[in-house]
Amino acid sequence: MSAETTTETTTPRVWVACLACYNDGKLVGAWCDAVDADDLWADIAKVMGGPKHGTARELAFYGPHEEHAFHDHEGFAGYRVSEYETVESVCAVGALIEEHGEAVALWLANDSTNLERIREDADAFAEDYQGEWESAEEWAEEFWESTGGAQELEQWHEAHGWAGSVRFDAAHFVHECECEGSIWTATDSAYRVHVFHSR
Ligand SMILES: [Zn+2]
Repeated sequence: MSAETTTETTTPRVWVACLACYNDGKLVGAWCDAVDADDLWADIAKVMGGPKHGTARELAFYGPHEEHAFHDHEGFAGYRVSEYETVESVCAVGALIEEHGEAVALWLANDSTNLERIREDADAFAEDYQGEWESAEEWAEEFWESTGGAQELEQWHEAHGWAGSVRFDAAHFVHECECEGSIWTATDSAYRVHVFHSR
Protein backbone atom coordinates (compact mmCIF):
# COMPACT_ATOMS: atom_id res chain seq x y z
CA MET A 1 0.00 0.00 0.00
CA SER A 2 1.38 3.34 -0.99
CA ALA A 3 1.70 5.85 1.81
CA GLU A 4 1.92 8.79 -0.54
CA THR A 5 -1.59 8.84 -1.94
CA THR A 6 -2.62 11.95 -0.07
CA THR A 7 -4.66 13.54 -2.83
CA GLU A 8 -6.19 16.21 -0.65
CA THR A 9 -9.76 17.05 -1.35
CA THR A 10 -10.06 20.10 0.86
CA THR A 11 -12.74 22.49 -0.31
CA PRO A 12 -10.94 25.61 -1.53
CA ARG A 13 -11.20 28.22 1.21
CA VAL A 14 -9.78 31.60 2.15
CA TRP A 15 -9.01 33.25 5.43
CA VAL A 16 -11.04 36.46 5.38
CA ALA A 17 -9.51 39.20 7.51
CA CYS A 18 -10.94 42.56 8.53
CA LEU A 19 -8.46 45.14 7.22
CA ALA A 20 -9.24 47.87 9.72
CA CYS A 21 -8.70 45.47 12.62
CA TYR A 22 -5.56 44.12 11.00
CA ASN A 23 -4.16 47.64 10.66
CA ASP A 24 -5.03 48.06 14.31
CA GLY A 25 -2.98 45.00 15.25
CA LYS A 26 -5.96 42.70 15.85
CA LEU A 27 -6.66 39.49 13.97
CA VAL A 28 -10.37 39.37 13.22
CA GLY A 29 -11.32 36.90 10.54
CA ALA A 30 -12.37 33.36 9.67
CA TRP A 31 -11.88 30.54 7.17
CA CYS A 32 -14.64 30.67 4.55
CA ASP A 33 -15.34 28.29 1.67
CA ALA A 34 -14.54 29.88 -1.69
CA VAL A 35 -16.57 28.06 -4.33
CA ASP A 36 -19.72 30.17 -4.53
CA ALA A 37 -19.60 33.98 -4.65
CA ASP A 38 -22.98 34.55 -2.96
CA ASP A 39 -22.03 32.22 -0.10
CA LEU A 40 -18.64 33.85 0.30
CA TRP A 41 -20.15 37.35 0.33
CA ALA A 42 -22.56 36.14 3.07
CA ASP A 43 -19.63 34.71 5.08
CA ILE A 44 -17.64 37.93 4.62
CA ALA A 45 -20.65 39.89 5.95
CA LYS A 46 -20.56 37.67 9.06
CA VAL A 47 -16.83 38.26 9.54
CA MET A 48 -17.29 42.02 9.13
CA GLY A 49 -20.21 42.15 11.56
CA GLY A 50 -20.38 41.18 15.21
CA PRO A 51 -18.80 42.58 18.33
CA LYS A 52 -15.14 41.69 17.75
CA HIS A 53 -14.29 44.84 15.78
CA GLY A 54 -14.52 47.27 18.67
CA THR A 55 -16.87 48.78 21.17
CA ALA A 56 -20.12 50.35 19.96
CA ARG A 57 -18.60 53.69 20.89
CA GLU A 58 -15.45 53.14 18.80
CA LEU A 59 -17.45 51.97 15.81
CA ALA A 60 -19.79 54.95 16.10
CA PHE A 61 -16.80 57.27 16.21
CA TYR A 62 -14.59 55.70 13.49
CA GLY A 63 -17.37 54.13 11.43
CA PRO A 64 -18.04 50.45 10.80
CA HIS A 65 -15.27 48.22 9.42
CA GLU A 66 -15.98 47.49 5.78
CA GLU A 67 -12.91 46.25 3.95
CA HIS A 68 -11.72 42.67 3.92
CA ALA A 69 -8.63 40.96 2.53
CA PHE A 70 -7.70 37.34 1.92
CA HIS A 71 -4.78 36.67 4.23
CA ASP A 72 -4.45 32.96 3.58
CA HIS A 73 -5.90 30.22 1.44
CA GLU A 74 -5.87 26.43 1.15
CA GLY A 75 -7.23 23.75 -1.12
CA PHE A 76 -6.27 25.75 -4.25
CA ALA A 77 -3.82 23.09 -5.51
CA GLY A 78 -0.92 25.52 -5.89
CA TYR A 79 -2.85 28.51 -7.23
CA ARG A 80 -2.01 31.64 -5.24
CA VAL A 81 -4.97 33.73 -4.17
CA SER A 82 -3.91 37.36 -4.01
CA GLU A 83 -4.87 39.44 -1.01
CA TYR A 84 -7.27 41.73 -2.84
CA GLU A 85 -8.55 39.34 -5.50
CA THR A 86 -12.28 39.78 -6.06
CA VAL A 87 -14.75 37.41 -4.43
CA GLU A 88 -16.09 36.49 -7.87
CA SER A 89 -12.64 35.66 -9.20
CA VAL A 90 -11.60 33.62 -6.16
CA CYS A 91 -14.83 31.63 -6.30
CA ALA A 92 -14.60 31.05 -10.07
CA VAL A 93 -11.17 29.50 -9.51
CA GLY A 94 -12.25 27.67 -6.32
CA ALA A 95 -15.27 26.05 -7.99
CA LEU A 96 -13.19 24.81 -10.92
CA ILE A 97 -10.44 23.46 -8.65
CA GLU A 98 -13.00 21.68 -6.50
CA GLU A 99 -14.26 19.97 -9.65
CA HIS A 100 -11.06 19.34 -11.64
CA GLY A 101 -8.24 19.64 -9.09
CA GLU A 102 -4.65 20.58 -9.83
CA ALA A 103 -5.15 20.70 -13.61
CA VAL A 104 -6.88 24.05 -13.13
CA ALA A 105 -3.94 25.52 -11.20
CA LEU A 106 -1.52 24.28 -13.90
CA TRP A 107 -3.72 25.84 -16.59
CA LEU A 108 -3.91 29.17 -14.75
CA ALA A 109 -0.14 29.22 -14.19
CA ASN A 110 0.51 28.60 -17.89
CA ASP A 111 -1.18 31.75 -19.16
CA SER A 112 -2.17 34.79 -17.11
CA THR A 113 -5.08 35.57 -19.44
CA ASN A 114 -6.78 32.32 -18.41
CA LEU A 115 -7.91 33.90 -15.16
CA GLU A 116 -9.78 36.57 -17.10
CA ARG A 117 -11.22 33.91 -19.38
CA ILE A 118 -12.87 31.94 -16.56
CA ARG A 119 -14.15 35.10 -14.91
CA GLU A 120 -16.13 35.60 -18.11
CA ASP A 121 -16.90 31.99 -18.93
CA ALA A 122 -16.40 29.03 -16.58
CA ASP A 123 -16.33 26.69 -19.62
CA ALA A 124 -13.04 28.18 -20.85
CA PHE A 125 -11.08 25.59 -18.88
CA ALA A 126 -13.04 22.66 -20.33
CA GLU A 127 -12.49 24.04 -23.84
CA ASP A 128 -8.73 23.68 -23.43
CA TYR A 129 -8.48 20.64 -21.19
CA GLN A 130 -8.08 17.21 -22.77
CA GLY A 131 -7.52 15.15 -19.63
CA GLU A 132 -4.75 13.39 -17.72
CA TRP A 133 -2.59 10.42 -18.65
CA GLU A 134 0.43 8.52 -17.35
CA SER A 135 2.46 10.17 -20.09
CA ALA A 136 1.99 12.39 -23.12
CA GLU A 137 2.75 9.35 -25.31
CA GLU A 138 -0.21 7.56 -23.79
CA TRP A 139 -2.41 10.52 -24.76
CA ALA A 140 -0.99 10.32 -28.31
CA GLU A 141 -1.74 6.58 -28.60
CA GLU A 142 -5.31 7.18 -27.48
CA PHE A 143 -5.71 10.07 -29.89
CA TRP A 144 -4.29 7.98 -32.73
CA GLU A 145 -6.82 5.22 -31.94
CA SER A 146 -9.68 7.73 -31.78
CA THR A 147 -8.95 9.12 -35.24
CA GLY A 148 -9.22 5.64 -36.75
CA GLY A 149 -5.57 5.85 -37.78
CA ALA A 150 -4.56 2.70 -35.91
CA GLN A 151 -7.23 0.61 -37.66
CA GLU A 152 -6.39 2.07 -41.06
CA LEU A 153 -2.74 1.27 -40.60
CA GLU A 154 -3.60 -2.29 -39.64
CA GLN A 155 -5.72 -2.70 -42.76
CA TRP A 156 -2.92 -1.29 -44.83
CA HIS A 157 -0.52 -3.80 -43.27
CA GLU A 158 -2.92 -6.63 -44.04
CA ALA A 159 -3.46 -5.49 -47.61
CA HIS A 160 0.25 -5.42 -48.28
CA GLY A 161 1.32 -8.29 -46.07
CA TRP A 162 3.79 -6.07 -44.26
CA ALA A 163 2.61 -6.81 -40.74
CA GLY A 164 3.87 -4.27 -38.21
CA SER A 165 6.43 -2.75 -40.60
CA VAL A 166 5.14 0.80 -40.13
CA ARG A 167 4.45 2.05 -36.63
CA PHE A 168 2.87 5.10 -35.10
CA ASP A 169 5.60 7.05 -33.27
CA ALA A 170 3.81 8.48 -30.23
CA ALA A 171 6.80 10.39 -28.86
CA HIS A 172 7.41 12.02 -32.22
CA PHE A 173 3.73 12.84 -32.59
CA VAL A 174 3.72 14.58 -29.18
CA HIS A 175 6.86 16.48 -30.15
CA GLU A 176 5.29 17.65 -33.43
CA CYS A 177 2.03 18.69 -31.75
CA GLU A 178 3.95 20.72 -29.17
CA CYS A 179 6.20 22.31 -31.78
CA GLU A 180 3.38 23.36 -34.04
CA GLY A 181 1.56 24.66 -30.95
CA SER A 182 -1.61 22.58 -31.05
CA ILE A 183 -1.15 21.16 -27.55
CA TRP A 184 0.81 21.84 -24.41
CA THR A 185 1.34 19.55 -21.43
CA ALA A 186 2.00 19.96 -17.71
CA THR A 187 3.01 17.45 -15.05
CA ASP A 188 1.27 17.57 -11.69
CA SER A 189 2.61 16.82 -8.21
CA ALA A 190 1.74 13.13 -8.63
CA TYR A 191 3.68 13.01 -11.97
CA ARG A 192 0.50 12.67 -14.02
CA VAL A 193 0.57 14.43 -17.37
CA HIS A 194 -2.23 16.85 -18.24
CA VAL A 195 -2.82 17.70 -21.89
CA PHE A 196 -4.34 20.98 -23.05
CA HIS A 197 -5.32 22.37 -26.43
CA SER A 198 -3.31 25.47 -27.27
CA ARG A 199 -5.25 28.52 -28.38
ZN1 LIG B 1 -12.59 45.02 12.04
